Amino acid sequence: MPNSLREACGVFSAYDHEGDPVFPCIYWGLRAQNHRGHQSHGFTTFDGSFNTHRNLDLIPKIKRKNIQDWLNKLPGNVGIGSVRYTTSGGTSEESLKRGIQPVLAETGKVRVALAFNGNIVNNSWLRRRIREKFPGFSYECDAELICRRLVMELAESHDLTSSVLACMKEIEGAFSVTGITQKGELFAFKDPHGIRPLCCGHSRNRKLYATSSETVGLDINGLEYDFEAEPGELITLSEDGIKRKQLTPCKRRALCGFEFAYFARPDSRLGDKYVYEVREEFGGNLGKEHPEITNKADMILSVPQTANDAAYGLHEETGIRWERATRRHRYVTERAFILLARERQTTIDRKVNLLDRKLRGKTVILAEDSIVRGDTTKVVIQKLRNKGAKKVHMFVTFPRIIGPCFYGIAMATYSELIGSKHDPQEIAEIIGADSVSYQSLDAFIEATGFKKEELCLGCATGKYPTPLAQKMADEMKERFDRGEKETGRIYEIAVGIE
Ligand code: SF4
Repeated sequence: MPNSLREACGVFSAYDHEGDPVFPCIYWGLRAQNHRGHQSHGFTTFDGSFNTHRNLDLIPKIKRKNIQDWLNKLPGNVGIGSVRYTTSGGTSEESLKRGIQPVLAETGKVRVALAFNGNIVNNSWLRRRIREKFPGFSYECDAELICRRLVMELAESHDLTSSVLACMKEIEGAFSVTGITQKGELFAFKDPHGIRPLCCGHSRNRKLYATSSETVGLDINGLEYDFEAEPGELITLSEDGIKRKQLTPCKRRALCGFEFAYFARPDSRLGDKYVYEVREEFGGNLGKEHPEITNKADMILSVPQTANDAAYGLHEETGIRWERATRRHRYVTERAFILLARERQTTIDRKVNLLDRKLRGKTVILAEDSIVRGDTTKVVIQKLRNKGAKKVHMFVTFPRIIGPCFYGIAMATYSELIGSKHDPQEIAEIIGADSVSYQSLDAFIEATGFKKEELCLGCATGKYPTPLAQKMADEMKERFDRGEKETGRIYEIAVGIE
């Protein structure tokens, strides 16, 4: 998507009760989910002791001749892994290296390896709490906070259930966690609102059980889907299969609405639908909601892959041709955000080929999943105009983003969001479009198959599902409206708000 927006993380874990190595399963489970985090990857397996490989960048392709080296390095029938994009901790190369998951924490004989997807809202409070006991505690990522708190509890109670419950009660935010204890117990749990996805599955012969952020992690391994973990649920995977325990009652579900529009892979399942089916409905809804534009359009275009399904749904609804006049150069794979702002235009030029003979003199609807900062969308529209497009109307599937995210998506301030300051008409002027039309919130919700009160839509509505996030958002908004400069991720600063 051309918005330089970053994902949070993806996790995968596996247990093989016949003792076979799980590294291959974890490797493929995460390769299928590399879209959730590009900055780093890591694996931890357990064969009586912890074995770890952690590195920056995408998960590497493994050459056939090197497979045995990897298996030797990561032995064990229990394992977890992560792909990460940082939404907490430092962003220097050294910080990124130190923040690679899985992380490991220990106190006395208690040791835990842990990886998670999400973001902690009461981050600064939790850091202070941990430093009361461990003054030298240094922090590079939220996984360390959860892992350290869990280890502190385990050292006292020696009971996984009560320790996880203590973490669930104390930590506010989004956290879908996988971990291994020093006894080789494999566990997973979800925050009491279930903001990030986490599903479970098994092999046909039931010798292997797994958890995965998205169902594609199960699919690539030929595993059968069992269930989506409930908010506030602890899951353990062992030779007895998958055991589930509801630790806290779920008062308010809040699955991230943005997963449907952008983050999740189209072939993953969320609820009863594949994500691509939801996105097709999004496109159809936009067609129904804006006939005044579709009546005059010559073609539908989609530049980002995440909007292809919406473009198809819009085509089905309106009968307007979805013209594939925007083609990616297949092997130019750099993502816009890894480059400096001044380099982005060149990269988009190199990544996407726009076919001028198809575009000249045409009125175009450009399908898009979201507009966050608007910087790269502006470049795409300029390119379409340079190629001769007469009019460019933006159809955006995710409702206007008016506020930051505290739960693991890299949009942490009001000032970076074009939709926090401008209405659709102003946004159209800024990005050079003839118009910008967002899907209505009601239509968006209905297409997901979830109820409004089962989704987080905080960045689109300003109503956040957890209390501290709401307090921070309100405080930030007041400061922003007063014209004060925002200085970074408020959940890591949070002075005077907690
Ligand atoms: S605030 Fe927005 S991006 Fe963040 S979890 Fe909620 S819906 Fe998702």
